[in-house]
Amino acid sequence: MTDNYDETKEKADAKADSQEERAEEEYEKVCFVCRRPESRTGKMITMPGNLSICQECMQKAFDSFDQNGSIPGLNRPENGQTGSVDLSALSGIPGVSFINLADLPGVGREIPKKQKLKKKKTEKKEKAPFDRRAIPAPHEIKRMLDEYVVGQDQAKKAISVAVYNHYKRVAADTGDGVEIEKSNMLLLGPTGSGKTYLVKTLAKLLNVPLAIADATSLTEAGYIGDDIESVVSKLLQASGNDVEKAEQGIIYIDEIDKIAKKRNTNTRDVSGESVQQELLKMLEGSEVEVPVGSNSKNAMVPMTTVNTNNILFICGGAFPELEEIIKERLNKESSIGFRAELKDKYDGDENLLCRAETGDLKKFGMIPEFLGRLPILVSLEALTRDFMVRILKEPKNAILRQYEKLLQMDEVQLVFEDDALESIAEKAMERHTGARALRAILEEYMLDIMYEIPKDDNIGRVTITKAYIEKTGGPLIDMRGVMRLGVQA
Ligand code: ADP
Repeated sequence: MTDNYDETKEKADAKADSQEERAEEEYEKVCFVCRRPESRTGKMITMPGNLSICQECMQKAFDSFDQNGSIPGLNRPENGQTGSVDLSALSGIPGVSFINLADLPGVGREIPKKQKLKKKKTEKKEKAPFDRRAIPAPHEIKRMLDEYVVGQDQAKKAISVAVYNHYKRVAADTGDGVEIEKSNMLLLGPTGSGKTYLVKTLAKLLNVPLAIADATSLTEAGYIGDDIESVVSKLLQASGNDVEKAEQGIIYIDEIDKIAKKRNTNTRDVSGESVQQELLKMLEGSEVEVPVGSNSKNAMVPMTTVNTNNILFICGGAFPELEEIIKERLNKESSIGFRAELKDKYDGDENLLCRAETGDLKKFGMIPEFLGRLPILVSLEALTRDFMVRILKEPKNAILRQYEKLLQMDEVQLVFEDDALESIAEKAMERHTGARALRAILEEYMLDIMYEIPKDDNIGRVTITKAYIEKTGGPLIDMRGVMRLGVQA
């Protein structure tokens, strides 16, 4: 019995070891001294204790020996030649004192896994074209989005086509000289209208890595803040340090309106405009050198190169003053000729953003070259009260469903009356933060319910009423097999 147990344990240990080894093999070796990965340094030399050193650093170590007098009888590896050198075998040679590489200043002990790069696939596999059949057709993408994102039909349609075209472009053969342009997108929509949510859902459905960055934190190289490359670095992290995977991912840059150049100023604006300038190359497709496992470059972090040519960039923003610009243009257009219309026709139109044109965005402060690299303009509708009610209950992972599920686990049925939902939506509208307010409001009201209900096993159903939301009454409680009780607020 004990023997059997020991044997099984041994086998399990051996299996775990080999799994660990295999996982290790998936990552590139990193030079113990200069911290560059093997794909950049060339073949590494393995030292005792499983330390890897690149040939350049090894050479430097030998050179320092040479300065102190040569080492007789040592076969040093020639450049380009690989092999294993056991320096410890040389200990004991008279007159030679050894430098312990691990003790050199600036040389770290253990290279953390998050700073290791996944090995590139073999040459043959790398050249294999991106499988277009793996990308669903636009109507399929939209159907999948419909399950999670309520309304916004026009935006979902535009995004589905753009994404489909983007991945077709990735798969396309450029041999015939026809190169398909990138379909980077610019999403316009009031705050909380679901821009980030839409992109997140899209990446999840397509199973591609996604990085979300905030344009406000980006600064021109050399200034305090995140470098432009940090967005690519984030994507690399989201891909598990797999460069190939990252090169087919999506980067979403939020709050892009915050890097508009300032209007009506005569002074040179260094912040916004220059960040736009710096983003140009990356949006278009270029080789970007990024730190692995960190957002900042420093001597101790390995670096790698990521090509952004096939990365889909989506920028999003609320563009608050853009509506005024659009209104001005529309008023000007409609005041010309016989069909002159009332000047206040567009006042109070919540969906003016849907009429945005590139010219309006230029006026807003986005530079033409930047807009040129985001050829697809998608506008999201402002959320109305009815829209909010639908968001509460329709998506596959709707907030109401989440609460229902939680109480179901206590075998309690949760019911929301329709007018209670309208009242919640009304309150959310007042906060002007879009659908984001819905969860915050519901959480406030559900806290007591989630606290009190599990206390009493006899409770079978809870009904949230309008009175409870408006604080003029309480929820209705049904006991199992007994009559309904009203709870005082
Ligand atoms: P934005 O990026 O436009 O400011 P978010 O994408 O962060 O807004 O939206 C906030 C939350 O609102 C999301 O997490 C999501 O739960 C919800 N939401 C917004 N719009 C929708 C929608 N159309 N369908 C479903 N949920 C939505």
